[in-house]
Amino acid sequence: MTAVPPLIVTQDNEFWFAAARDGRLVIQRCSDCGTLRHPPGPACPACCSFAWDTVESTRKAVLHSWTVIHHPQDPAFEYPLAVGLVDLEEGIRIVADIAGVDHDRLEPGTELEVCFVEHAHGEVLPQLRPPTIGVE
Ligand SMILES: [Zn+2]
Repeated sequence: MTAVPPLIVTQDNEFWFAAARDGRLVIQRCSDCGTLRHPPGPACPACCSFAWDTVESTRKAVLHSWTVIHHPQDPAFEYPLAVGLVDLEEGIRIVADIAGVDHDRLEPGTELEVCFVEHAHGEVLPQLRPPTIGVE
């Protein structure tokens, strides 16, 4: 049985998880100064405004850093588990599992794409995969 805690969905992050369930990656944007932010939060870190909207990400990402986890193992994941920090095309970073890539081939600058997969408690979360966007 998984030890991963269920998501805590709040008024501040509900929009993000709703978009994820639709396979869309959205980024919170300050309505006053335009600063993008992630993870979602109630106020802009640049100007303290509470006004915000969202922009939809292209889901194109470039690997900034990563780690490969071997232990401890939880049944919710497959091991070894690569977890990456990526720069999105929009200029913010997110963290997610990496799948479908030989871990020995990961390097800074590796192009990846943000997809969404269902996890242990039925929540839909981002996962990084080799890019298919723009590939015919
Ligand atoms: Zn702002």
